Amino acid sequence: MHKQVAIVTGSTSGIGLGIAKRLASEGYAVVLNGLGSAEDVARAKAEVAAAGSDVVVDYSPADMSKADQVVGMVEEAERRHGRVDVLVNNAGIQFTSRTEAFPPERWDLILSINLSAAFHAIRAALPGMQQRGFGRIINIASVHGLVASAEKSAYVAAKHGIVGLTKVVALENAEADITCNAICPGWVHTPLVDKQIQDRAAREGKPVDTARAELLGEKQPSKRFAQIGDLAETVLFLASATGGSITGIALPVDGGWTAH
Ligand code: NAD
Repeated sequence: MHKQVAIVTGSTSGIGLGIAKRLASEGYAVVLNGLGSAEDVARAKAEVAAAGSDVVVDYSPADMSKADQVVGMVEEAERRHGRVDVLVNNAGIQFTSRTEAFPPERWDLILSINLSAAFHAIRAALPGMQQRGFGRIINIASVHGLVASAEKSAYVAAKHGIVGLTKVVALENAEADITCNAICPGWVHTPLVDKQIQDRAAREGKPVDTARAELLGEKQPSKRFAQIGDLAETVLFLASATGGSITGIALPVDGGWTAH
């Protein structure tokens, strides 16, 4: 049987890299994507290749803020691997500021990477999935797709948007074996969150350990970070044949954050 092919955007780091490794360990051919130096990319490719045996690992340098490059990534994956079975829209960035001071160019960039990139990738991947009668689209949203926090207007708007997009794509493809779901992580310890911890420590003149504990304690009842492995396992489940009846959901993996 052919290998199933998965694209994971933003997989040179953090959650995306963990998802790519887990998919590779199950035998998926994986197309990586993300920013980083040549060494970062080579390291990510090597880590993913080492996660399984006989693993096909490819890399697309597409910039997720550019629609034509997003589409090009999907088209290139289909050309090289013959199919895209699983699309994980994971690339994302953050910027925090009160709304009245939020730089408009940051708003545009966050909306383009965290929301529009998923639309362009889904739009490009769907025809092939519809032709083959199988597809799994998994959008890495956030608890901020379900609830809000101050100083995150662009991020919260984009993540609420991607939850809406998820539902529409799920409805439109419900009769085919094509599902579209969102995963909504709470705090996960990755470079994206580490920056927020460092900023908080600097702003409040507190040790990093204190800033980290306060950040968790404020929102996440478990007081523990969600693990990258928890998210990778969730992706694997939604991507599987067993996940075929689950579509259009926004699944929190958040230590109880959205139970508040
Ligand atoms: P991260 O910073 O470790 O990784 C982000 C990835 O996106 C990197 O590979 C980066 O190169 C890539 N990326 C950024 N801009 C890009 C661009 N223009 N083109 C292509 N790739 C680009 O962050 P992470 O914490 O692993 O976040 C991954 C996803 O999970 C994001 O969508 C984020 O919003 C979401 N998320 C994270 C958390 C958390 O606590 N870390 C919580 C909820 C949701």
